[in-house]
Amino acid sequence: SNRMMLGPLVGSIDQGTSSTRFLVFNAKTSELLSHHQVEIAQKFPKEGWVEQDPKEILSSVHECVEKTCEKLQQLNIDITNIKAIGVSNQRETTVVWDKTTGEPLYNAIVWLDLRTQATVDRLLKKIPGKNKSFFKFRTGLPISTYFSAVKLRWLLDNVEEIKQAVDDGRAMFGTIDSWLIWSLTGGKNGGVHCTDVTNASRTMLFNIHSLEWDPELCQFFDIPMEILPKVRSSSEIYGLMKSGALTGVPISGCLGDQSAALVGQMCFQDGQAKNTYGTGCFLLCNTGQKSVFSEHGLLTTIAYKLGRDKPVCYALEGSVAIAGAVVRWLRDNLGILKTSQEVEKLAAEVGTSYGCYFVPAFSGLYAPYWEPSARGIICGLTQFTNKNHIAFAALEAVCFQTRELLDAINKDCGVPLNQLQVDGGMTNNKVLMQLQSDILCIPVVKPSMPETTALGAAMAAGAAEGVGIWSLNPGDLTAVTCERFEPQINPEESEIRFARWKKAVMKSMDWATS
Ligand code: ADP
Repeated sequence: SNRMMLGPLVGSIDQGTSSTRFLVFNAKTSELLSHHQVEIAQKFPKEGWVEQDPKEILSSVHECVEKTCEKLQQLNIDITNIKAIGVSNQRETTVVWDKTTGEPLYNAIVWLDLRTQATVDRLLKKIPGKNKSFFKFRTGLPISTYFSAVKLRWLLDNVEEIKQAVDDGRAMFGTIDSWLIWSLTGGKNGGVHCTDVTNASRTMLFNIHSLEWDPELCQFFDIPMEILPKVRSSSEIYGLMKSGALTGVPISGCLGDQSAALVGQMCFQDGQAKNTYGTGCFLLCNTGQKSVFSEHGLLTTIAYKLGRDKPVCYALEGSVAIAGAVVRWLRDNLGILKTSQEVEKLAAEVGTSYGCYFVPAFSGLYAPYWEPSARGIICGLTQFTNKNHIAFAALEAVCFQTRELLDAINKDCGVPLNQLQVDGGMTNNKVLMQLQSDILCIPVVKPSMPETTALGAAMAAGAAEGVGIWSLNPGDLTAVTCERFEPQINPEESEIRFARWKKAVMKSMDWATS
């Protein structure tokens, strides 16, 4: 039977903003054998607020694991071949829970959430010249609503149960990786409270050079250090699964989703980059063992540290808050789509926005502007504009935002990228991919197995010391087969459209002044 042939397998939990997935890969061939996916509800209790239920997230993971194992058994694949599990997760999203009950003390505050704008303004007053970049060289990040420290500050200021739990020594803080690993390794009965360096680097409490929680930052944000998880490398055994079909299997890889995609795209060399199109859009460029600081609105972040004794690698990152989320908005808020996939057909029917530009600054603008007071606009409307043009403009917005990131990366790195490696849920949309190549004027290259985030976490888990079933030696890595999209319009036309986009961006600025 094929049981003998398969060899060791690795499972991968991919907990994203839109959905949770569990995928199982063959460690020798990187082949995806089976997977299951569950969409996650997002709650918008007030304008600008975005929450998720940590228990729903956890149960979605359990459901995906169990369903995937059932599918494997139907394929006659023995699930005892699964020797390790990796975790990749939406980053920055903040959870506080009670370690004695295992219960969350509030909903997870999702990375996109804007409720902390007043907290940010108050913190900036403590800084000379209200300089957003005051901690840039220590954290790689500007002070913004985006990162976990301000979300945690808000929870400590506003949720009585959390204050009480901190005073009683019952509170634990974590990003989604920590919440999942703690819960899956036993929760209140001995769960392991940890995070990895990539996730830690998105909290703004972490020193990206010493690789430790920074006491001065914790003091600045007034965060009690005892509620923070222990920081580990991205590839080591953290603990064992304590329930379900995979009980006893080690969890041995952990990477924030964007770092995981960088690994899954095999971007291990200095200068290699990938762009992931999910809820948001994230372009990361590996800068090797040196941390590079941007002059053009990019973040400096930890790319990975694949083992306790392995070096840390850094990345420059361009982050865009709203990419796939604009399609979800067309579906859920305007109701002009029944499914996200339909946007492709709608856009293809017209093949142009007919001069309509859509700046989806729903959560302000992230890179390269970092402008919290921007808000979304649709402009250039005429009597002629219809839903097809708006759908096209929404896709084009994703491409223009990526163009802004690419321009920033090219300026910071000096050597322009000559093609763009892409992945994420939106890359199934061929109209979008062609449009992206047209607007960047370089080829866009998509791996034929697009689940690179999950693959990256699986690689980290399989390569961990004590697991050792996935080799990360360059010679052993399976070459990625790709689909390519070549530019089809002339660069002048591309420039004209990009210039109009920039004009639209200027119109979106300074709308919500706090
Ligand atoms: P995340 O990792 O943030 O959860 P995914 O990579 O799963 O995101 O991508 C899901 C996002 O992509 C959703 O916002 C969805 O609206 C969008 N999306 C999915 N399929 C398509 C498609 N064919 N065309 C455009 N957008 C899509």
